[in-house]
Amino acid sequence: MSPHTSHLALELRDVTKAYGPVRALDGVSLTVPRGTFLAVMGPSGSGKSTLLQVGAGLDTPTSGRVVIGGHEVSRLDETQRTLVRRRAVGFVFQSYNLLPSLSVEENITLPLRLAGAEGDRAWLAQVVDRIGLGPFLGRRPAELSGGQQQRVAIARSLVARPDVVFADEPTGALDAATASDVLGLLRDLVDDFGQTVVMVTHDPRAAARAHATVVVDDGRLRDHLANPSAEALAASLVGVR
Ligand code: ADP
Repeated sequence: MSPHTSHLALELRDVTKAYGPVRALDGVSLTVPRGTFLAVMGPSGSGKSTLLQVGAGLDTPTSGRVVIGGHEVSRLDETQRTLVRRRAVGFVFQSYNLLPSLSVEENITLPLRLAGAEGDRAWLAQVVDRIGLGPFLGRRPAELSGGQQQRVAIARSLVARPDVVFADEPTGALDAATASDVLGLLRDLVDDFGQTVVMVTHDPRAAARAHATVVVDDGRLRDHLANPSAEALAASLVGVR
């Protein structure tokens, strides 16, 4: 399947990940269409991190298929997976993970340098402009607020035009108002740029900003809710173990 013909940014087919006797993922099938925002919720130990690791090609499934932007990464060795991941996947973490000695601009373009890619200057300018980072490009991360640092991390995640951005508790370190702004930005990137975002969160208010939410329980997908309210999500989590 060519990356350009697939309307799916991400596909998991009957994915299992076992750690000894523990099935962290137990027969998970999931499709994420391009240009959609999916939240992943579930209690601690339910398999969310494993879903992110395996879905992003950081780790391999024990069985099943993982296809990112048309590339079946579950069939690739680690070196090949790394190459696909650099082009096809962006990451946003709770703790921003910016390099303190680099400027904002150098942080944003780091994925291109790692991939040995020229990058698309027009796209970079568009991302910087949309995220409002123009005035900060020469600064160091420590000179920015938490919300601004997360915006830098979001710009970095987009710079290689990935098929999917994986966000792991992206608002976990932010106050409520800043968290809301960052979630609004993620949603806008999906709605305006057609970006695909998969976000792990424990916060029903954050998940309510996505187009859909899957609830993971004991390594399985228990629920797939389209446009749920924060109240519906909170209710759905009640009774999960
Ligand atoms: P969550 O992110 O929802 O808290 P995880 O994906 O981290 O859940 O974990 C799911 C299950 O897999 C848990 O039972 C956890 O203990 C187990 N697990 C996760 N990673 C490992 C590992 N590297 N080795 C052994 N067990 C693991």
